[in-house]
Amino acid sequence: MTENLVTIGRYSTPYEAHMVKSRLESEGIPAFIADEYTIGINWLYSNALGGVKVRVPAPLASEALQILAPEIEPSATYNVEAEACPECGSKNTEDFLDKRNSFLTWMLFGLPLLLPREKRRCKECGHCWRPSK
Ligand SMILES: [Zn+2]
Repeated sequence: MTENLVTIGRYSTPYEAHMVKSRLESEGIPAFIADEYTIGINWLYSNALGGVKVRVPAPLASEALQILAPEIEPSATYNVEAEACPECGSKNTEDFLDKRNSFLTWMLFGLPLLLPREKRRCKECGHCWRPSK
């Protein structure tokens, strides 16, 4: 195999990745799974690695994406519309990244294993929450 492989999807579990792989192969597209082994050992790492990747030969990528189209999550579109604070109802809120988790794992294991989480913070009452997407 000398063709370049491109990543067409990322999945949080090897199971999902294998579902996609067999789906593609049933359509005649060879698919390969990357980073499965590492994640099998500790699925928590999947956050740091960006998930279990499904790869296909570059010339077949667009065909593969069309086959998978209904199953592919919309790529992380940032929700810029102000979300009302669940505590006080104010729309005066802002996004920020909660880096505490990655900082903690960095302290414990020497690696920032968890990616910073997106959160929203209310400027009125200081309440923080995970945005609903
Ligand atoms: Zn509030």
